[in-house]
Amino acid sequence: MKITQHGQYLWQLTRLQAFNCYLVDEGSELTLVDTNMSRQRRRYPEGGAKPGQTHLRIVLTHAHGDHAGSLDAIHAQLPSAAVAFTARTAEFLQGNINLQPGEPQAKIRGGFVTCATPPTRLLKPDDTVGSLRVVAAPDHSPDLIAFGMNGTAA
Ligand SMILES: [Zn+2]
Repeated sequence: MKITQHGQYLWQLTRLQAFNCYLVDEGSELTLVDTNMSRQRRRYPEGGAKPGQTHLRIVLTHAHGDHAGSLDAIHAQLPSAAVAFTARTAEFLQGNINLQPGEPQAKIRGGFVTCATPPTRLLKPDDTVGSLRVVAAPDHSPDLIAFGMNGTAA
């Protein structure tokens, strides 16, 4: 895995030169954005948290396998971590990959995975996760969200 630091708080974890997830390290808070493909768990020995990091979170941008594939495995290593994603992502992770009324009625693309780990928090646009702000970005998949900076980074 390639690890690239961007600025003071953001770490990009790249697997197989193409699949990314991110760590946002805000001192007492550590947020893992996406979990990468399955079998990612070996890359997070001992959970990856530092002493004093009291708020551990796993958040998902969407339910495609290259983003959510290791949710269950990583959560098994970090059982106290909060888990957050949207209600729409929760539906996909439960195996419901049907289009919903009001969504663009285009073919749903990409490889979705199912996961057993339930969210401890359901995200919606404009919610904050540490210094990150949730932005709806449905296009690549109906459940896709992005994270913008909220301007409160420690
Ligand atoms: Zn995707």
